[in-house]
Amino acid sequence: MIDTHCHIDFEEYDKDRSEVIARAKDKLDAVIVSGIGYESNQGVLNLCSKYEGFIYPSFGYHPVSSQNCSDEELKQAHTHLIDNINNIVAIGEVGMDYFYVKDKALREKQKEIFLSFIEIANDYKVPLLMHVRDCEKKALNIVLDYEDIPYVIFHCYSGSLKTARRIMEKDNYFMSFSTMLCYSKAHQELIKNISLDHILTETDSPYLAMTKEERNEPANVVKAVKKIAEIQNEDIETVDSITTNNARKVFKI
Ligand SMILES: [Zn+2]
Repeated sequence: MIDTHCHIDFEEYDKDRSEVIARAKDKLDAVIVSGIGYESNQGVLNLCSKYEGFIYPSFGYHPVSSQNCSDEELKQAHTHLIDNINNIVAIGEVGMDYFYVKDKALREKQKEIFLSFIEIANDYKVPLLMHVRDCEKKALNIVLDYEDIPYVIFHCYSGSLKTARRIMEKDNYFMSFSTMLCYSKAHQELIKNISLDHILTETDSPYLAMTKEERNEPANVVKAVKKIAEIQNEDIETVDSITTNNARKVFKI
């Protein structure tokens, strides 16, 4: 099993990060940690270098936390990303968030930033790991224009089944599903119709734990795999092997 998206670099883990990683090592094959901006990306890289072969870095620029960034800050993130393009397994999380960002001008800026990272993914042929909320169809229409991106991932996919069907028309497009599957009725309904060939698993730790107070952790990805197996009436081993192979193929790990 692979947790393809989490944030164990966050300060929430400062006190017991090594225990969290040990628990993950016990159950999982690999973990991908996603940066959300320039400093975060460097932190992710430092963390991954300590756990080479188990934790892999993805460099991102989060659509919500980066909405007030300056041109200089964006440029710095671009340069840092390109300098490390061979050290990362994906570009992300980058994307668009219409849930938190309602202002028209800010949405426009968000799109511009998103496009700048899409172009890098396309030019350097690196997988694109997207954070998209309440604008899945828009994001899909944008990214479909870029044919050199080797793989496109909708992290924590929460869009419609109609858009999911369009995503599944592309062999190299994936949706990742999290521990949220354990309690979100909408996701449980959705996953009934998603082919295992397009599924990745994740936790988005520290977020999306069973309760709001709880801190999530990568080892919990097991719960998402079990839930997918239960809903799709498959055995856990099958779901595990297909989704793990998907992740290995996408991120070359
Ligand atoms: Zn995230």
